[in-house]
Amino acid sequence: MTTIAFLGLGQMGSPMASNLLAKGHQLRVFDLNPDAVRQLVDNGATAAHTPAEAAKGAEFIITMLPNGDIVRQVLTGADGVCDTASPQSLVIDMSTIHPLQTDALIAELHDRGIAMMDAPVGRTSDNAKDGTLLILAGGTAEQVERARLVLMCMGSELVEAGGPGMGIRVKLINNYMSIALNALSAEAAVLCESLGLSLDVAIRVMSGTAAGKGHFTTTWPGKVLKGDLSPAFMVDLALKDLRIAVDVAQQTGAPLGMGKVAELYYRSASEDGRGRQDWSALLSQVRHLAGRTDVQ
Ligand code: NAD
Repeated sequence: MTTIAFLGLGQMGSPMASNLLAKGHQLRVFDLNPDAVRQLVDNGATAAHTPAEAAKGAEFIITMLPNGDIVRQVLTGADGVCDTASPQSLVIDMSTIHPLQTDALIAELHDRGIAMMDAPVGRTSDNAKDGTLLILAGGTAEQVERARLVLMCMGSELVEAGGPGMGIRVKLINNYMSIALNALSAEAAVLCESLGLSLDVAIRVMSGTAAGKGHFTTTWPGKVLKGDLSPAFMVDLALKDLRIAVDVAQQTGAPLGMGKVAELYYRSASEDGRGRQDWSALLSQVRHLAGRTDVQ
């Protein structure tokens, strides 16, 4: 049985803490919301009045809070975790926060003799309830091994992200992609509707293509990721099709903001001489726009 301090008992933190309790761990919990604390206490946790009280003597100190400023406050502020955490404890921040704040907090706690790792989560509060979260573990290999059993009480899959601060980085980029793709999907769905096309048909078709599956696992592995830019589908043809879609959308009144931004990238690729390269060369073009000269 491990003593764990759990700070932040919201939509995610509450079921995560419940799963730790259900697996037999001893929990000391803290949240500004007394109802959230009471619910966990009813399930066997001990209430703490401050983060410092929760952290005292705990082997693991888990934070699941709304943002980086609050995580900083709870860890380093008055009556914060740093006041009582022992050098043997491990702070695990599972919140989604700015990666540079994660880096700064890891460094600051290290200077105060306290170890900290990032382990944000993928999926939703339903998965938090079921204990099937995707755990994106930053931290050193030793920290991940030390925390693994505790983390796996809350999740069904753990990815070692590659070192301190890398968990929050992969989480951020995953969210960026899926959030932007949600907007692109909404534009495509409204274009379907404005053209009188059944959304069911579109979903059936696109579930089997790069549109629905994404490019990381479909068009890129055999092409740009192997350094092969010979065209399976040319940039210029993609640009032509994109322009038709943008034009049709404009005529039907459907918004296509994401499409217009994509057109800028394809156009710049074409203007830089990539028109006859494979459309996966968009990765090379965006690397070029980012000033990367070390990769194709
Ligand atoms: P939430 O708003 O439901 O819960 C946050 C909790 O933190 C609340 O109970 C609040 O009272 C508490 N809190 C706020 N300030 C505090 C303080 N100073 N001291 C102690 N407790 C404090 O948020 P959530 O949905 O549980 O999300 C928590 C984190 O998990 C966020 O960083 C979020 O981005 C991330 N996340 C959420 C989801 C999701 O589906 N909701 C999925 C993955 C990751």
